[in-house]
Amino acid sequence: MFSNKEEFKALFLQRLEMTYGKSFNDSTKWDQFHTLGSMIREYISPDWIQTNERYRSTGTKQVYYLSIEFLLGRLLRHNLMNIGMEEVVSNGLKELGIDLDELEEVEADAGLGNGGLGRLAACFLDSLASLNMPGHGCGIRYKHGLFEQKIVDGYQVELPEQWLRHGHVWEVRKADLAINIPFWGTVESYTEKGGLRFRHVDAEMITAVPYDIPVVGYNTNTVNTLRLWSAEPSPYPINKDILKYKRETESVSEFLYPDDTHDEGKILRLKQQYFLVSASIRSIIRSYKRNHASLLKLPQYIGLHINDTHPVLAIPELMRILLDEEKLGWDQAWEVTTKTISYTNHTTLSEALEKWPIRLFQPLLPRIYMIINEINERFCKDLWLRYPGDWERIEAMAIIAHGKVKMAHLAIVGSHSVNGVAKIHTDILKQREMVRFFEISPEKFNNKTNGISHRRWLLKANPRLAALITETIGPSWVGNPSSLSHLGEHLNDQSLLGQMNAIKRGNKESLALKIKEKTGITVDPASIFDVQVKRLHAYKRQLLNILHIMHLYKQIKDDQSFNMHPRTFIFGAKASPGYYYAKKIIKLIHAVADKVNHDPKVNDKLKVIFLENYRVSLAEEIFPATDISEQISTASKEASGTGNMKFMMNGAVTLGTLDGANIEIMEKAGEENIFVFGLSASEVLNYYQNGGYHSREYYHLDTRIRNVVDSLGNGFFPGVGDEFETIYDSLLMQNDQYFVLRDFASYADIHKQAGKAYENEQGWLKMSLMNIAHSGYFSSDRTIREYADDIWNINSSPGAVR
Ligand SMILES: *Cc1c(COP(=O)(O)O)cnc(C)c1O
Repeated sequence: MFSNKEEFKALFLQRLEMTYGKSFNDSTKWDQFHTLGSMIREYISPDWIQTNERYRSTGTKQVYYLSIEFLLGRLLRHNLMNIGMEEVVSNGLKELGIDLDELEEVEADAGLGNGGLGRLAACFLDSLASLNMPGHGCGIRYKHGLFEQKIVDGYQVELPEQWLRHGHVWEVRKADLAINIPFWGTVESYTEKGGLRFRHVDAEMITAVPYDIPVVGYNTNTVNTLRLWSAEPSPYPINKDILKYKRETESVSEFLYPDDTHDEGKILRLKQQYFLVSASIRSIIRSYKRNHASLLKLPQYIGLHINDTHPVLAIPELMRILLDEEKLGWDQAWEVTTKTISYTNHTTLSEALEKWPIRLFQPLLPRIYMIINEINERFCKDLWLRYPGDWERIEAMAIIAHGKVKMAHLAIVGSHSVNGVAKIHTDILKQREMVRFFEISPEKFNNKTNGISHRRWLLKANPRLAALITETIGPSWVGNPSSLSHLGEHLNDQSLLGQMNAIKRGNKESLALKIKEKTGITVDPASIFDVQVKRLHAYKRQLLNILHIMHLYKQIKDDQSFNMHPRTFIFGAKASPGYYYAKKIIKLIHAVADKVNHDPKVNDKLKVIFLENYRVSLAEEIFPATDISEQISTASKEASGTGNMKFMMNGAVTLGTLDGANIEIMEKAGEENIFVFGLSASEVLNYYQNGGYHSREYYHLDTRIRNVVDSLGNGFFPGVGDEFETIYDSLLMQNDQYFVLRDFASYADIHKQAGKAYENEQGWLKMSLMNIAHSGYFSSDRTIREYADDIWNINSSPGAVR
């Protein structure tokens, strides 16, 4: 391969011309990107082979992280950084007249996820490889990732995303490892050696073809695997409409469902889930059997982790393999299965809990349904022994009830570990949402507070801040992010604070340029960059933010003496295409932006920006340029959040509710280094349980609230008519389920405080520094170590030094 700049250049030129049959001078950016990518992938290959060899020969336990989403983003710069070749390549390219920054922009984001859940999976892969842990990902190779968002007239328009248009340079197709997955058909029984056995017959097959992507650890020779499955139509059935069959099979890996909270209730979604699980587990068992004689020892060597309930069919699928193919008895199969599988819960929102109607489930997956039925009967029998006569409880806990399969119940019953994703979330699971399951198996429940890769979100996204940190406390934080805490010893270092300030300012200037380019609007980098970027959802309360901005606007207009530090409010958010209410909020943000940005009376104080198509690569530009991080969900609703951690690590100060991981951010950074407002989770849950909230009271008693809420319908926005009636009604007619008006006053107050704090530059920089210093806990390396120790029982398994 290459080990220095000259070798790199020579190989790059040779490869480019050989592959594309054109001279370097005629090559396009895309030719250059693809050439570089394929060189890096080959560079990685020997370590990839070695890693698999090492895992095999040492017989170490390996974990497979099953997830319906992996939100990877771009890989070029990340891989270059991880293999330590960023400088060699960047300098070599420069001498050829190529700017690596520009080349990086050519790569499409691998956007195979909706938001936090998928991005968590990507950070976990990064941490597993960087910690030399034997852990791999299993997912679906959607032809189209999360839709591309365009804003037209203030409305969201969705376009199919096209990340595979030019191919994906990092993947390796392995057609010889394809697996046929059966759907439909019937179950036949037969007897063998006196025992009753079952087999699935007359099924329609869909072929799952694996595409492997190397997951490169940072500064190590461990390369794990992300295996993504693609649905293909071979073998073609005889006597069938071939075109129809082709369309139907390919549709299984065509689109990522653009919804991160609602149960779609679509048969295609269920197909995707079984497709992922069956292909993954069967390929895992296939390679397991090459080295092991008995499936009884599976849990010693293999862990299967299910990221939320989407892959929960792993439980009946593993049972099916053990019963029908390996001919184990039920009790043995059940013990192996539960010891192998562990489960993460991501939400307590009831609309997000997956429930499948039997009438859809049973015909599509007849044998899997039979097995779930048996699991349910045995489980209910056990419950009956424990709670004789308590029908109400047994009905509530059953896996199948009222014509539906409850996926979360199956996940809890069929796994040995159930974890929440932040302390408060796990407490709510244990004390409320899953209290009855906690009662019968408390040992299963545990917390694993989410984390983010400090390599992608600090080292890569904010290289100048990373360099300053290294200059200040040495390089050890990169391998051991908890040592970021040493920054705290430099709290009074004026020069450090000054440099931090300059770096933030530089990042804000870059973002301001981007904003100008994308929206045509000029924003002042000296203003406070106040940012809310995340999926658009009622519980995340972008509405509270925009109503408060309307209030500020009115104040500036109406009160000559009103003064505040200038602010730029920045939003980024995709709404699920069928989520009417969320789309109205996007329109409202644009209506406010339109009014504010074109009013010269307020423009030295206030700007509102919506950056379209929020995704990983855009996020990497936003976090480093943020002063205030808006984390304002209705308390108890956000399981953890991970955006909050990315902001913190880049020196933004959180303004938020005591929800999800915000609470732990406060505990780590200190109460004086965060702005907290609003109802607590227990206050919210108390309202839900006992009533007592009447949004109209807040509307009538607080003129600020009345003013902004009335503006939704009184001609304040010219030409929008009754556009915002739904929002108005949600606040006053439907009693404001998410307590927007209840928290408004407290939110306005905390904003005042934050604005005042910002004017004290030294004080602000210290707050910022303390946030960075205590962000090490939120590295996904810490999270993964906890999973490894407490749930998976796997070890770091480094290879020999290169
Ligand atoms: C981190 C991240 C998220 C999750 O953000 P939350 O604020 O935790 O909801 C969503 N989308 C992208 C692109 C991200 O990088």
